[in-house]
Amino acid sequence: EYQFDLSRIVSDDAVVGTVILAFDITEQAEAERGRREFTANVSHELKTPLQGIIGYTDLMESGLAKSEDIPRFVGYIKKEASRLVTLIEDIIRLSQLDEGTDMPVSEVSLGHLADEVCKTLFDAAKSKNISLSWSGADGNMYGVKRLLYEIVYNLCDNAITYNRSGGSVKITVSEDDKNVRLEVADTGIGIPAEHQERVFERFYRVDKSHSKQSGGTGLGLSIVKHAVAYHHGKIALESEPNKGTVITVAFPKKSLV
Ligand code: ADP
Repeated sequence: EYQFDLSRIVSDDAVVGTVILAFDITEQAEAERGRREFTANVSHELKTPLQGIIGYTDLMESGLAKSEDIPRFVGYIKKEASRLVTLIEDIIRLSQLDEGTDMPVSEVSLGHLADEVCKTLFDAAKSKNISLSWSGADGNMYGVKRLLYEIVYNLCDNAITYNRSGGSVKITVSEDDKNVRLEVADTGIGIPAEHQERVFERFYRVDKSHSKQSGGTGLGLSIVKHAVAYHHGKIALESEPNKGTVITVAFPKKSLV
């Protein structure tokens, strides 16, 4: 995409020529389009649950709701409201990553983070009859602890959400002199090949209703992608429908020092 600018060349008050300047604005135009699309998506994602919340409160206020239905309505309102909080937190996180805000760097053990995440998600995994475990190295590296935690958490949360009853989630941390690797492998529903590139886009979901029912915002993997890039790392996805998904992240140990 180009933007043109016309300039006249004037000599002794006479126009002797014109110059046409062409600026390649493809990148800017794309960034602008991306921003507009993001704003439209955010508005939609915020509006839908809020309309639901207003609908249920209207119903209760009108006196038309049966008293035995009220706990269910309140439950719905609470669930949607907490989904909105998660969504807003995710949006804030993404905008910090977009702006490249400086964040505190320290020595972090990916193995310890994996252990913490396993403890936090233990109940969620158990309630779906999924075994969740981690093994491997300490995996010490320099990075932003909160972002690294978010990477491990989001990958494991997805591995549980898009799994089957009786399935498993295995986290493996390994390292060599220069790099630390994190692998999250699940035995879940998998991602069809044509969606595999796109799941890292903002608000992209393979199955919208499944994602929303489980409280997903559609932003998890885009946060992961940006947080990995912040650490100069690489991410790879391998997946087979009905078999499972393996996501591997590799970080240079000392890129942020
Ligand atoms: P969401 O909040 O919807 O989980 P994400 O950005 O984390 O958003 O993931 C985007 C989409 O990628 C999900 O809606 C789901 O369709 C798919 N997905 C992510 N992780 C997995 C996985 N481990 N197995 C199968 N599908 C997955």
